[in-house]
Amino acid sequence: MDHFPIFISLAGRTVVLSGGGEAALAKLRLLLKTRAHIAVYAMDPAADIISWAAAGKLTLHRRDMQAGDAVSAALFYAADEDATKDARTAALARADGALVNIVDNLQDSAFITPAIVDRDPVTIAIGTEGAAPVLARAIKADLEARLPASLGLLARIGKSFRAAAEALPFGRARRDFWSDYYFNAGPRAVADGDETVKDTAIKAALDDLLAQHIERKPRAGHVAFVGAGPGDPDLLTLKARRALDEADVVIYDRLISAPILELARREAIMLDAGKEGFGPSMSQQDINALIVEHAQNGAQVVRLKSGDATVFGRLDEEIDAVAEHGITWHIVPGITSASAAVAAIGQSLTKRERNSSVRFLTGHDMKGFADHDWKALARSGEVAAIYMGKKSARFIQGRLLMHGADRHTPMTIVENASRPEQRVLSTTLDRLPADLGAAQMNGPALTFYGLAPRAAAQSLSDLIRQEQA
Ligand code: SAH
Repeated sequence: MDHFPIFISLAGRTVVLSGGGEAALAKLRLLLKTRAHIAVYAMDPAADIISWAAAGKLTLHRRDMQAGDAVSAALFYAADEDATKDARTAALARADGALVNIVDNLQDSAFITPAIVDRDPVTIAIGTEGAAPVLARAIKADLEARLPASLGLLARIGKSFRAAAEALPFGRARRDFWSDYYFNAGPRAVADGDETVKDTAIKAALDDLLAQHIERKPRAGHVAFVGAGPGDPDLLTLKARRALDEADVVIYDRLISAPILELARREAIMLDAGKEGFGPSMSQQDINALIVEHAQNGAQVVRLKSGDATVFGRLDEEIDAVAEHGITWHIVPGITSASAAVAAIGQSLTKRERNSSVRFLTGHDMKGFADHDWKALARSGEVAAIYMGKKSARFIQGRLLMHGADRHTPMTIVENASRPEQRVLSTTLDRLPADLGAAQMNGPALTFYGLAPRAAAQSLSDLIRQEQA
């Protein structure tokens, strides 16, 4: 991120703009929404600027800008649409200490103006760092259509009601009240209220709602065991998103990707349990205790696990701990990494006349390398998805060959399935440890036994192999 978005307070401050044409008009239309003092320097101002000046909305100076004109200005816009003129006025304003924007000149600007969706006091700023104005406009159009015009009204009235809402205890109770207002009672009051009495209708609805919420018993703590999928935030379920939205506390594993954590409610307490598969970090007992402690304090806890929470996630131990303390819980299923990885290689996990069952194996468990029914696996046509299989590759290879598996059995390793860094390595059972070692995979990887990438997908893995050769 080159540009950090902030909202700057302009009430009572000065904004200076040099220019009187189209670019100046476009910026002034936005600036006039603020309560800034606007000073415009233009020899030949457009008609609108003259009438805004006449109406007292801005101060118009019909001359070129001079040194000192931007002293104590918060912002300066160079909008003469002439590179030489803009460079001159920008230098003057910079010397005066103002933050400078040159219209259509990203490089020499100290700040840029985003595309804005205005539901004052709700303001959405969209920026693409100048990369894709078309995209910014499309996003703006999308949001304009999606956000009801009454949003601003609801927010304005809500804001004036904040003190009254303090009758509710801070935290969950107050949040429930506001969410009820913005998503149920508020929109209903707007829809019912007559144009002229909308404000009154909304205020009355707020009073009623507050009375109802004050009488309500506080919500008990609850734990949602949520599968976060393999990493791509688009592979979260809607239920997982909703749970993250409502969470007071999120306890997450190391494999949870950053873009997914971003989706949690801003105020949620984020706790890193640091676990990866069976690997150590925070002990399982400590994690259990942490979940129980927060739920007992009345929090809506989201226990976020990679992939599907029910696959190699030690879920049962956590459920037992929670249930033992009489805390309610539920599971939100997720997309397990085997599903994401098999999609990445264009194959299916089961196939008529090849394999009618598929095994999910772990390469190692708490006791070390995990033992399996190697003899059954060694039969031709078997398919297995091996989790945590990188370190145990040589062990698995040895066991399978010892039990008579064909050494040419295809093996495919998908690292970082569904993530931007995804890599596919296609090899065979006899070459598995060597190829895996050469590929130097540091991310989470899923190993398929008995599956090769489909021909179309193969070219990708070949490319990667060539790159590594
Ligand atoms: N519950 C998880 C598995 C947890 S065990 C699930 O359903 O996917 C951790 C192992 O999952 C890792 O060692 C790796 O084998 C696999 N894994 C998790 N995320 C992955 C990803 N994005 N790509 C490939 N493998 C992944």
